[in-house]
Amino acid sequence: MVCGRRVHEGETGRGEIAASGSQALLRRARTRRIRGFFGSVTETQVQIACLDLEGVLVPEIWIEFSKRAGIPDLARTTRDEPDYDKLMRGRLDILAAHGLGLPDIQAVIAGMEPLPGAVAFLDWLRARHPVVILSDTFYEFATPLMKKLGYPTLFCHRLEVAPDGKLTNYEIRLPDHKRRTVAALRLLNFRTIAAGDSYNDAGMLAEADAGILFRPPVNVMRDFPQFPVAPGYDELKALCAEAAARLAPLTAQ
Ligand SMILES: [Mg+2]
Repeated sequence: MVCGRRVHEGETGRGEIAASGSQALLRRARTRRIRGFFGSVTETQVQIACLDLEGVLVPEIWIEFSKRAGIPDLARTTRDEPDYDKLMRGRLDILAAHGLGLPDIQAVIAGMEPLPGAVAFLDWLRARHPVVILSDTFYEFATPLMKKLGYPTLFCHRLEVAPDGKLTNYEIRLPDHKRRTVAALRLLNFRTIAAGDSYNDAGMLAEADAGILFRPPVNVMRDFPQFPVAPGYDELKALCAEAAARLAPLTAQ
C-alpha cells in the first residue's frame, strides 16, 4: 500500500463491484489513479499464481513412504481426510509405533522426483506470473524437492524433531495458511490464480480470483463442482491462460 496515500473520491472497492457489476466500475477498480506519497500514479493489479505441491508438482510424500515402509495406514492424505490435524496426529502415532523418524522419511524423499511434466509446467507458469507454492507439507521434507523444481518460493510448516530423529510434533506456519495467504495477496492488490488437488486446497481455490482443481480424486471433484478440473498439465496451462486473460487489467477510462 502506498505510504500516506490519499484516494480519489471516484475510487471503487470490491464491494461496489459486486453491488453494481458494471463494466465501468470494474475498469476503475482494476487500474486506478492514486494521489499520495509518489504523486499521481496509476495503481494496477498484478496476477500471481499459487500452487499446491503434493499431487500437483510432486507425488504424495506420505503415499510414497507408506509403500516403502510397508505401512498402508500411512497412505491416507488430505485427499482422503479433510481434518488435517486428525490426519497428522494419526501419522505421528503410526510413526512412533513403528519406531520411524525423520531420517527414514528423508531417505524416501531423496529418491523422489517431480511428477512427469511438472518442471516444464512450473517453468511455463513462472515465465508468466510470480508463483508461490502453498503446501501443508514441511520444510524438513520439501527442501530436496525444491532443488529439483528450481527453488520456487515455498510457504509450508515445520516439524518438531527429537535429537534421535523421532517426530514429536508439527508446527503450523499459520492456521488455514493457504486461504489466508491468497486473501493477503489480494489485499496487496494481486489478482490470484490458484491450483490444487485436495480438500486442504478448497479454501485457497475459493478465495482466489480463479481456482482450478488439478487431477483431483472423485470425492474432491464431487464435493467441489464449482471449480474447473484440469486432468493434465496441458489443460492446466489452458485454464491458467484463460484465467489470466479474464483477469487482465483493463485500461482506466
Ligand atoms: Mg495436494
